[in-house]
Amino acid sequence: MRSFFWEKTMTYYCTLASGSSGNCSVYVSGRQRILIDAGKNARYISEQLRHLGLGLADLTHILITHSHSDHVSALPVLLKHSGAALVCSWDTYSTIARKLPPDAPKLLFEEGEHFLLGDCPVRTFATPHDAPGSCGYVLGAGREQVALCTDMGTMTGEIFEAIRGSRAVLLEFNHDVEMLKTGPYPYPLKRRILSDQGHLSNAFAAKVAARLCGTGTSHVILAHLSAENNRPQLALDAARQALEAEGLEAELILAPRDGLGTPVLL
Ligand SMILES: [Zn+2]
Ligand SMILES: [Zn+2]
Repeated sequence: MRSFFWEKTMTYYCTLASGSSGNCSVYVSGRQRILIDAGKNARYISEQLRHLGLGLADLTHILITHSHSDHVSALPVLLKHSGAALVCSWDTYSTIARKLPPDAPKLLFEEGEHFLLGDCPVRTFATPHDAPGSCGYVLGAGREQVALCTDMGTMTGEIFEAIRGSRAVLLEFNHDVEMLKTGPYPYPLKRRILSDQGHLSNAFAAKVAARLCGTGTSHVILAHLSAENNRPQLALDAARQALEAEGLEAELILAPRDGLGTPVLL
């Protein structure tokens, strides 16, 4: 089992799970220990945090991107046992509020707002996805900045402006279009995934990754890969080819479905 020891002064970002079976990651900077999404059970999340030398009680905030169960399933239990404050959009909160402890501390925002969590700057942006209030985040500033972009059917100019220049970007490489089209999913689900409110394909995300690397991004974390409609090598090849076509280089990191990803030191 992998185990890490982190200096208290380190800033880093690490995925704990990624894909339709559950999404969760952590951003640690200064006194802020921020969990992003909670789409696994609490025991799993607590075990992965332990590999990073963290416990549930260390979490200061839990950021939620949207209300789909692969992003929120452990949220009620985590809020009960961690003492962390919930941070999500008003519309996301309205969708999930009845499952949550009513007295949990929370910070609610409109998509597009900026704010501070302790000394950590946070920018939010609306994501085109079929969940009310769905949004992404940019955490930190300067060379410590990481952008989180999953569960979105397309890339908008507004999102690109919000995330450009981020040192690390978590980017959805959900599916290979041919695998999805010829695969076993029922037609309405295929149509949903391919729509502008669905998920990003390898080819689309690869182009976005290359554009981002042109703005200073040095680490691209390939995330939310479909188990049925994608293969890690296809996603990595698409990203590598798009970068090579532009004469760019970046570290490509695959976020594993289960278990800790490779931590990105910021
Ligand atoms: Zn998802
Ligand atoms: Zn979703």
